[in-house]
Amino acid sequence: MNNKNNELGFSTRAIHHGYNPLDNQGALIPPIYLTSTFTFPTAEYGAGCFAGEQPGHFYTRISNPTLALLESRMATLENGEAAVAFSSGMGAIAATLWTLLRPADEIIVDRTLYGCTFALLHHGIGEFGVKVRHVDLSNLDELRAAISPATRMIYCETPANPTMQLVDIAAVAKISRQHSQVTLVVDNTYCTPYLQRPLELGADVVVHSATKYLSGHGDITAGIVVSSQALADRIRLQGLKDLTGAVMSPQDAFLLMRGLKTLALRMERHCSNAQVIAEYLQAHPAVEWVTYPGLASFAQHELASRQMKLPGGMIAFELKGGLVDGRRFMNALQLFSRAVSLGDAESLAQHPASMTHSTYSPEQRAEHGISEGLVRLSVGLEDIADLLADVTQALDACA
Ligand SMILES: *Cc1c(COP(=O)(O)O)cnc(C)c1O
Repeated sequence: MNNKNNELGFSTRAIHHGYNPLDNQGALIPPIYLTSTFTFPTAEYGAGCFAGEQPGHFYTRISNPTLALLESRMATLENGEAAVAFSSGMGAIAATLWTLLRPADEIIVDRTLYGCTFALLHHGIGEFGVKVRHVDLSNLDELRAAISPATRMIYCETPANPTMQLVDIAAVAKISRQHSQVTLVVDNTYCTPYLQRPLELGADVVVHSATKYLSGHGDITAGIVVSSQALADRIRLQGLKDLTGAVMSPQDAFLLMRGLKTLALRMERHCSNAQVIAEYLQAHPAVEWVTYPGLASFAQHELASRQMKLPGGMIAFELKGGLVDGRRFMNALQLFSRAVSLGDAESLAQHPASMTHSTYSPEQRAEHGISEGLVRLSVGLEDIADLLADVTQALDACA
């Protein structure tokens, strides 16, 4: 399978891109290069590697053949020029922000973000002189007014973790592109490139927690950045090599490539299962509200249908009994596991206010739209009848 295969379908590229077994002793599955360092044939060759004049791998924190294959697959799936692999999503996000932001720069971020990204901004780079400004990116006038000459980056998740609010990537990109100093970064963890490709909509950088759907099996932590070649080179040589050192293990790259082979199949099932659960919750008398992009009642349903191929596998909802009943519901679940993370084959339920988003103070959660009773479901790949039975009996237990 050659590399000029952009005409090939998504799954074909997820399975074959960048690898020819006949170049590798016929091995159907790419070998794992479990090596930290690479031998130089001569001292001059080694000097050339360090000077950036000699192509090739010389130390795994900078590059490794197994990581390079994964990176080329992620780049083609997101339709970007290049990708960089990291040991976690936070490694990828921290490396991107630290590479592109300097003291006195401003970053505009959406109203709601994943808890550790919020912490990185407010307890991390915010304390090193970068000005963090939250803007509700569904309000484009507010965004236009917020951009100043100091603005270097616009950053968002869509759907946002955990509220499910969407950002119109194409509309934000159009505004961002009017300011040449601004880089638009989109966290595509909830969707994966199977459902949504931000670079095609005008974003400059995509970041991922590949711990989630991309790997899909709950057995690694991993992160990915996809962008232009020039930006990826900077993020690799500063953000990865020097600033974070958050390099992915080649063993984990192997597991991630194994996950990618079934990404399209898995996403289809996550989405169809989640649609059924969301509709069931919406019709249930004990439920106060449900946010799921596949519901006709979802405030941004039109945007969801335009921007996402399918509505995803994540649901947020709150019971009429608020936090107390939310905890009762969670404790009654038997098939869903009470666990953070998402995108696994196993269905998971968690309580953001006391778990993933406990990095926010209660006042901050109120300000950023995260209600104390919100329960987050990551709908897995089990049989829908069994998932529905579990949700039903857990809701009955609250009555
Ligand atoms: C989990 C998550 C992250 C962080 O990724 P890790 O792999 O846990 O470091 C970032 N963004 C979103 C939207 C996430 O869900």
